[in-house]
Amino acid sequence: MTIGVVGAGQLGAMLALAGYPLGFDFLFLDRTERTPAGRFAPVVTGDFADQGLLRQLAERSEVISFDWENISVDALRAATRSTRTRIAPPLKALAAAQDRLTEKRTFERLAIGTTRFAAVDSLSSLERAIRRIGVPGVLKTRRLGYDGKGQFLLRSAADAGRAWAELGSVPLIYEEFVPFEYEVSIIGARGRRGEIVIYPLNRNYHADGVLRLTLAPWQAPRLLRAASASLTRVLEHFRYVGVLAIEFFVHRGRLIANEMAPRVHNSGHWTIEGTLTSQFENHVRAIAGMPLGSTAARGHAAMINLIGAMPAREWLLSEPGLHLHHYGKEPRHGRKLGHCTFVESSPGRRNMRAKALLQQLYPLLAIKP
Ligand code: AMP
Repeated sequence: MTIGVVGAGQLGAMLALAGYPLGFDFLFLDRTERTPAGRFAPVVTGDFADQGLLRQLAERSEVISFDWENISVDALRAATRSTRTRIAPPLKALAAAQDRLTEKRTFERLAIGTTRFAAVDSLSSLERAIRRIGVPGVLKTRRLGYDGKGQFLLRSAADAGRAWAELGSVPLIYEEFVPFEYEVSIIGARGRRGEIVIYPLNRNYHADGVLRLTLAPWQAPRLLRAASASLTRVLEHFRYVGVLAIEFFVHRGRLIANEMAPRVHNSGHWTIEGTLTSQFENHVRAIAGMPLGSTAARGHAAMINLIGAMPAREWLLSEPGLHLHHYGKEPRHGRKLGHCTFVESSPGRRNMRAKALLQQLYPLLAIKP
């Protein structure tokens, strides 16, 4: 069976690395072959919305998936209409996750606590939203935002004009600013027969809007129960097939859903070495209609993203038990170039080691596990 994947980045690469041992083949679509997945899998190259290329992908694959969100739902739907190719996860879930307003409304409809929000399409609607929701607040583009891009923090109502001038050319959403204590995410998979598996909770540490560190399993049984219930509701609502992630703020012991990702997720990279079946393998299993694998943890894992510049491989590989994932990308400021994971026998040992490694990797960032 060939699995077609739109997007050949590191997530696609890790999907292929998980799927080849199970006997699946992969075919990617991306703008160039010089991508992480293109290092070892064939890539059809061209625009993501190119009907001819999407149709080619559909004709050569039994199922099509995607490794990033910002692809055209309409183009993918049109290209697969007269083929037998399935698409997983479902396009409805992808469409909901692409638009922060639809995403928040989905959370509300499923009784999943989220930030208070309002749609903004003019300066006067922004001013109304500020009066209703208050300040501080965050103005965000509804589409194409990630890692904190396309956001403006409003500290007072007087910032409305500047925020509107900066972002107002596209549809927006205004949300209350949540002075959260920390961030967590939950990841799970639903199979074609409706079975669901859920991974342990991830605690995530960001800097400059980008994930730097994940510690998992994060032992907070009450939060895990609440996050799993929310994830299950979203999976069932969309009759979802594949891996889904939801990110939450934790504020006064409560979860506040920030966003969802209809794909494998950076905060789940630790599952490759840290659980019995990785998120990548479970995504492949789910979309291929296979039984899902156990999500049980093998110990206490930490995953550190390698961002902007790659540290010396000799140094990383001299760390006992450290697993390096080098994406083979050109270094660039703020770019995710790889990640590393280690698994320890206790949360205390893991946290101490994560702290020491972070101090060496990012001495200027205040990330305190
Ligand atoms: P996002 O692109 O929505 O994931 O936002 C990126 C980061 O900005 C989040 O991980 C938070 O650290 C911060 N952020 C986003 N929205 C809010 C909010 N409503 N309140 C507080 N911080 C936020």
